[in-house]
Amino acid sequence: MKGMFAALILIASHACAVYGQTDSVMMERIYTASFEQGQAYEYLRYLTKKIGHRIAGSQKAEAAVQWSKSLMENLPFEKVYLQDVEVPYWERGKQEQAYVVTTGKPLQVLALGGSVATPLDGLEAEVVEVELLSDLRKHGDAVAGKIVFVNKPWDESIVETGVAYGLNSSQRSRGPAEAAKLGAVAYLFRSLSSSPDDDFPHTGGTRYVAGIDSIPAFAISAVGATLLSQTLKEDPSTRVHLANQSKWKGTVATHNVVAEWKGTQFPDQIITIGGHIDSWDVGEGAHDNGTGTMGTLDAIRTLMRLGYKPRHTIRLVFYMNEENGVHGAVKYGEQAKANGEQLIAAIESDAGGFAPRGFDIKSSADKVAWIQQHWKPLFEQKFWVSRFLQGSPGVDSGVWGAHFPNTLMFNFRPDPHRYFDIHHTAKDVFEAVDRRELQSGVAALASLLYLLDQHIEKVGR
Ligand SMILES: [Zn+2]
Repeated sequence: MKGMFAALILIASHACAVYGQTDSVMMERIYTASFEQGQAYEYLRYLTKKIGHRIAGSQKAEAAVQWSKSLMENLPFEKVYLQDVEVPYWERGKQEQAYVVTTGKPLQVLALGGSVATPLDGLEAEVVEVELLSDLRKHGDAVAGKIVFVNKPWDESIVETGVAYGLNSSQRSRGPAEAAKLGAVAYLFRSLSSSPDDDFPHTGGTRYVAGIDSIPAFAISAVGATLLSQTLKEDPSTRVHLANQSKWKGTVATHNVVAEWKGTQFPDQIITIGGHIDSWDVGEGAHDNGTGTMGTLDAIRTLMRLGYKPRHTIRLVFYMNEENGVHGAVKYGEQAKANGEQLIAAIESDAGGFAPRGFDIKSSADKVAWIQQHWKPLFEQKFWVSRFLQGSPGVDSGVWGAHFPNTLMFNFRPDPHRYFDIHHTAKDVFEAVDRRELQSGVAALASLLYLLDQHIEKVGR
């Protein structure tokens, strides 16, 4: 009896020690495997160099879908399939042109996503400069017939660049309609770039409002914006020439790509992981979001290679059309809801492939506190991943999450410093991604996936 009691204590304490140890040993194996045998970087090389940028509805976006599907089919998933998605297709057309009429000085611009075209030979007008759209009203009638130029510099004091981006991004989407209301003929928006020395324009989505004229809308580089602002100070009657030939080309049938790794204990409980496969139509969509798709795929592949058997079903989703419509995420959510699926957790990667810093967690404060207490220490000391804070899910998870308010959601957060220097520009190419940083992110994603699969029942209890 006494001996048995001692043995029980021994088993209990042993089990306890092994429990924590098992996780840290597994994470070491994941990190080693990701650095030594990871494929995300090579997958990314193919996606960016052989396929290239891939705006939703384009042939390249569909090529990325088909190639991703074949990648997944070469891994031991039980099921790989495409989910039909209809997307509106917008085409940039011939390269935009912009210059200061008096000096001929060129300005670097990109049409904003969704923009209508100027007349074929362009348009020319005087410019009204403001920092905020709300200042436009002060100019009243003076806006009619002119180009509205919103020139709000990036707030460099904010370390988390996503916050600085968010402070000003609504002026990109609302601007053309606000300007058109006052009779403006075009909209020129200072690029959302974190660097004042950046001469690349950053595109991004914009919107028109029914019943208000649609006017051509452009992003101008930070350097161009500063130059134009100085020129206007010297001569307020300065005229600018703008030309683009963008247009909407109807709807196109395309797809989300989905792969399922069946759970051994709870096959009906699903952990979703993934990111968007489309990109803007400049650069190569490397950080946004080649790293997110190839990284999440490689995270699963890493666990597979280690002989791991998931308890819950792990479902990889490459969403279509995050950049200009989120129709893929809408479809995923509708379908999952119609099927009555149990989407217990989600991980999204759509913030670049820089060195991993942690995860934002959409959940209650007590669950986040539990994760901080039990999982953060496993990442923090050895792997330099320490951000586990309550926050927003990614865009796609946020959209389908409207149907699943109780899903525990994680938004992968790599280092934010350089992301908005290249975001939505011609600079977002394969060469801007570092292999070691990317594979470190893969290891962090695979580790979180492993911990969720092993312990989700304990989170917040
Ligand atoms: Zn993205």
